[in-house]
Amino acid sequence: MIGGKAYFSVFSYCFLAMNRWWSVFWFRGILLLLENFSFSIDPSSRIAEGDFILISHAHGDHISGFKSSKPKLASHITIKLYEAQTGRKLIDAFPAFLSSQRFTVGGLDIEVHDSGHILGSSQFLFLKHSSSLVYTGDLNLEETIITKPAKPIECDELIIDSTYGHWDLVFPKRDDVYADIVNWVESLLSSGRAPVFIAYSIGKAQELIALLNEWLDVKVLIDDKIRKVNRVYEACGFKFNCVNLSTKEGWEALKSNSLPAVFSSRESFKLAEKHGFLKAIATGWTLIYPYRNFHACFPLSNHADFPQLINYIEEAKPKIVYTFGYHAKRFARWIKRNMGIESVALVD
Ligand SMILES: [Zn+2]
Repeated sequence: MIGGKAYFSVFSYCFLAMNRWWSVFWFRGILLLLENFSFSIDPSSRIAEGDFILISHAHGDHISGFKSSKPKLASHITIKLYEAQTGRKLIDAFPAFLSSQRFTVGGLDIEVHDSGHILGSSQFLFLKHSSSLVYTGDLNLEETIITKPAKPIECDELIIDSTYGHWDLVFPKRDDVYADIVNWVESLLSSGRAPVFIAYSIGKAQELIALLNEWLDVKVLIDDKIRKVNRVYEACGFKFNCVNLSTKEGWEALKSNSLPAVFSSRESFKLAEKHGFLKAIATGWTLIYPYRNFHACFPLSNHADFPQLINYIEEAKPKIVYTFGYHAKRFARWIKRNMGIESVALVD
């Protein structure tokens, strides 16, 4: 249950939207309040306020809820990825199998749908009689070399990822970005140099590895953090051709600059830099920030860009949109002004 003090602080800082079955707040993540029950969705603290916790995917800024003692639900792959990264076995999490299960919790039906962001990432659809609400989690509507696109879900209320919810943020075609990356890596390797990409151990690392494996037919040097995550991907049918830095072959590749590297840990990245690797980053933020400390940067994102977000809203046809993430306020204003849909930013 929600304690009195915390409950009032929710009222102090958060927007309240009333309807028949639930209210939506932001308080250390998203709070969905029902008359006698509450959900915390992707809480940012282990002190999650809700009676039940939902975790959309395994990226570090979404997994604090796994440390709570309260009951929780996540896709079975998200649970596996969390366990692989932390070495901690979860015994109190309900695994959901994407698009094949419906759970009833606190009087609501909950469906889990792919959000296209990383392996196992989920959207949650809440249903009660004829009312519906969707939480997209981190979202991508575009197919990548390792993920299928998310499908918009029709709903009355929509809570949508607004990381790139600014009209200037339009990504180039993914195949063009892939080609730019491959051409740059190929020209470096042919001149006897090698690149090192810094990447999230889940999602971005596997996309870069698959790209270099498939388009360039080269092995990729990886660190231990990525190796642990790759095992989960491989159990789901992915095949990667990698060399681990901690092996003799990996160490030789590092010293000779003979393979492109994708590293997740700062220590491995610095080691590659010390051995003459050229530094690269692949992220959508390159549209905004210059990344001057890198030799190359590529606008490759696992989030939806602005046109994708608008496309989602048009297909979902919600009566109200809640925005969360980096551009939440600006995006909410844009939706209200340009789409004529009631819109509220959920922010601290
Ligand atoms: Zn994420």
